[in-house]
Amino acid sequence: MPDAARFYGLEINRAGFAACPFHPDKTSSLKIYEDHYYCFGCGAHGDVTDFTARLFSISQYDAARKLNADFGLGLAKQAPSVPVKQTVSPEVAYRNWLHSAERILNDYLNMLCRWQRYYAPKTPGEEQHPYFVESLTKMEQYRYLYEQIRFGTDAEKRRLYLTEHETLSKLAERMKQLTAAKSTVKRKAI
Ligand SMILES: [Zn+2]
Repeated sequence: MPDAARFYGLEINRAGFAACPFHPDKTSSLKIYEDHYYCFGCGAHGDVTDFTARLFSISQYDAARKLNADFGLGLAKQAPSVPVKQTVSPEVAYRNWLHSAERILNDYLNMLCRWQRYYAPKTPGEEQHPYFVESLTKMEQYRYLYEQIRFGTDAEKRRLYLTEHETLSKLAERMKQLTAAKSTVKRKAI
């Protein structure tokens, strides 16, 4: 049970509790036992197959097959191996989004800091580099967003999940391109 919970994205604390993916859980109410789980918040409980079925909104049968495939259990070899479509629960999707949003914003802010130093005009008359301008104009806005995502209330974060989804995917895409461009430059330099 703990292996599957971790594999499917739950973070289990030292006491064996995790944030419950089956209800909006501010405290970690889900106790992960060796062979079953129980949520003290919403009462969800069951074994590892129940857990997987619930998490991905699939049948018990498909959950068993998924566990078999994901953990290489080698069961039911005759059964045709149709990949089970991964549909994570809305709670898990939200939590995953928070996690990646925090990382992307952190990377972006670090980059803006570097740009602010690196692309600063050397003389007063020099034309300002676009990256330097961006570092000045975007820093405040994105730092605020980052702080809300890290330290905001659950309600605030859920609102950002709805309103900033687009902004963050665009930023993620841009960061990917910038990183790719950087590694090309490095390769050329070698
Ligand atoms: Zn729960």
